[in-house]
Amino acid sequence: KLYNEVIELKGNIRVFCRCRPLKQDETEKGSTSVVDFDSSQENELQIICSDSSKKQFKFDYVFRPEDNQETVFDQTMPIVTSVLDGYNVCIFAYGQTGTGKTYTMEGTPDNRGVNYLTLKELFKISKERSCVMRYELFVSMLEVYNEKIRDLLVENPNQPAKKLDIKQSAEGTQEVPGLVEARVYDTDGVWSLLKSGSQVRSVGSTNANEFSSRSHCLLRVTVAGENIINGQRTRSHLWLVDLAGSERVGRIEVEGERLKESQFINKSLAALGDVISALASKSSHVPYRNSKLTHMLQSSLGGDCKTLMFVQISPNSADLGETLCSLNFASRVR
Ligand code: ADP
Ligand code: MG
Repeated sequence: KLYNEVIELKGNIRVFCRCRPLKQDETEKGSTSVVDFDSSQENELQIICSDSSKKQFKFDYVFRPEDNQETVFDQTMPIVTSVLDGYNVCIFAYGQTGTGKTYTMEGTPDNRGVNYLTLKELFKISKERSCVMRYELFVSMLEVYNEKIRDLLVENPNQPAKKLDIKQSAEGTQEVPGLVEARVYDTDGVWSLLKSGSQVRSVGSTNANEFSSRSHCLLRVTVAGENIINGQRTRSHLWLVDLAGSERVGRIEVEGERLKESQFINKSLAALGDVISALASKSSHVPYRNSKLTHMLQSSLGGDCKTLMFVQISPNSADLGETLCSLNFASRVR
């Protein structure tokens, strides 16, 4: 409860920036870091531009290359666990391909990310509250590719993913009819579910990694809660979204399918930016309908819903242009 009061004071939209370490092959090629941190300011960073001028950016929190998954989760935990109190929550990882979006959200088997650590925490808290609240947790997994929504939790992972659409319910909320909601009881169950979902995601693509950077991957945790004492029920969603890569693709370099893909990605990321900045500025019109992503998440964005965006950046001097684009995008939504 205390955590949620703190969030309330700081507003419902938060932006965290995370800078990954320079990779060995980048260092070997002579790349240097263009990102500077001030040891006394945990929410600021500076970018050293090619003309040696410096640009400063401020966020709710800035994670540095040496910060590990636990440090990131410590800051994220209060937001994600508010789903147990009946809040809808959306977490996004935004940034150029290769900056650590998947590392932050999924992580690796040795360094698990926000998705897994969140589920682990939700199970832990629901156990602690079991004398007052009874919780049921469900997980769904889907992707948005070229403005088409596909269910990734199919029974047979060798089958193609199921196509889905958005419908408005009688209560006025946005639903995805037919989306599989798998009941989960422990973290092992979640882990194997996520693995099978990832497998379905890459079916039909020659390069799984490259493909995954061109679609948005969404994990939805549904929490059904019942207060044992007064019988009051809550049902809320936590969306954990690994967005498609934000890099601009030159029109001359690509054509055909790749060009179409990149246009869909640009359009949906711009739509997301428009929605969050409209919410941040308390604008009377929020343009949810401009993309499948924002339309589908409409009931979990705005109002008293909580939103967190991770802006992922690379310290590599060769990525300077994209880094500035991502930081400018993020500054607009803050
Ligand atoms: P994206 O999903 O944005 O394309 P990835 O998550 O695949 O990027 O990250 C690219 C590579 O960098 C991966 O090998 C990943 O393990 C590594 N990486 C990213 N962020 C970090 C980090 N904070 N610490 C260590 N390695 C990282
Ligand atoms: Mg990725």
